[in-house]
Amino acid sequence: MNAIHSSPARGLLGSIGETPLIRLARASAATGCEILGKAEFMNPGGSVKDRAGLAIIEGAIAKGQLKPGGVIVEGTAGNTGIGLTLVGNALGYRSIIVMPETQSQEKIDFLRMIGADLRLIPAKPYKDPGNYVHVSRRLAEELNAEKPGSAVWANQFDNLDNREGHRQTTGAEILRQAGGRVDAFTCACGTGGTLAGVAFALKEADPTTRIVLADPLGSALYSWKKTGTPVMSEGGSVTEGIGQSRVPENLLGAPIDDALQVTDEEALEQIFDLTLNEGLCVGGSAGINVAAAVKLARELGPGHRIVTILCDGGARYQSKLFNPEFLRGKGLPVPPWLA
Ligand code: PMP
Repeated sequence: MNAIHSSPARGLLGSIGETPLIRLARASAATGCEILGKAEFMNPGGSVKDRAGLAIIEGAIAKGQLKPGGVIVEGTAGNTGIGLTLVGNALGYRSIIVMPETQSQEKIDFLRMIGADLRLIPAKPYKDPGNYVHVSRRLAEELNAEKPGSAVWANQFDNLDNREGHRQTTGAEILRQAGGRVDAFTCACGTGGTLAGVAFALKEADPTTRIVLADPLGSALYSWKKTGTPVMSEGGSVTEGIGQSRVPENLLGAPIDDALQVTDEEALEQIFDLTLNEGLCVGGSAGINVAAAVKLARELGPGHRIVTILCDGGARYQSKLFNPEFLRGKGLPVPPWLA
């Protein structure tokens, strides 16, 4: 898949993936482990979700669901909408993107800029029929009732093309770039596509590789992994695109060994340190992931190679995570150079 995947003839599609694997010097030095971050912010749409957008659209075309003139409909925290819209633009499909209005202004602006038909709605829990996932599903159903076969609901949470794309690309790339030896992998979950796909690829190569789910506060996935029942934890998170109140199908059956929780304070400490001292300006979920990798390194002890995901870039959250007023309003620390 990779040789074809990265062929110039594939245009934008061929520029998705094959991101660098970067040694995180300070996290590595602090733990005596080798902590590596996959630079997913270098994808053309700026996030790991370009891969899911590509896998879902290619899957829908292959299954005969997405036909010329068809429209892609999805509910998203923003990044999947960006991936789907860019891939759709490159292949001649329009997109309708349903998004909670609480997501960063930068993602909203970017989606409008690239021509998505953006529907901002109030944020509601999953059990509420007004939740963005249900609104997007009903919208696709209405379009198909009007004109059969005109719309495809991407359904990133339960569409297994998502994790299969990550197994074939993200997971395979990590294995190759790490020279075949990965002691542990950790990342947070939105749909779980990244975690599950990479987990399948790494476990197939080496069943002893430890796979750990990283969870922000307020999410139910930590309790699901620890007890078998998804119960939302106390507190909340300013990070976007990760944490769930239910278990998406992309996570079911994935070979995950353990879970750990990360606070926003721990994530922000990593984000600001990576930005100022390594020149890696990353977003909130990347901060959760690097903080999780550091915790895991301390658990495993020195000498291990631990891989994680740098999901998107900090510029996507300039108005929030890098904005002193926002941080103060949330009672979060402001880095000295922004104060
Ligand atoms: N980080 C960010 C910034 C995201 O937008 C997402 C997806 N919503 C994720 C992490 C999680 O990725 P996945 O859906 O593959 O679990």
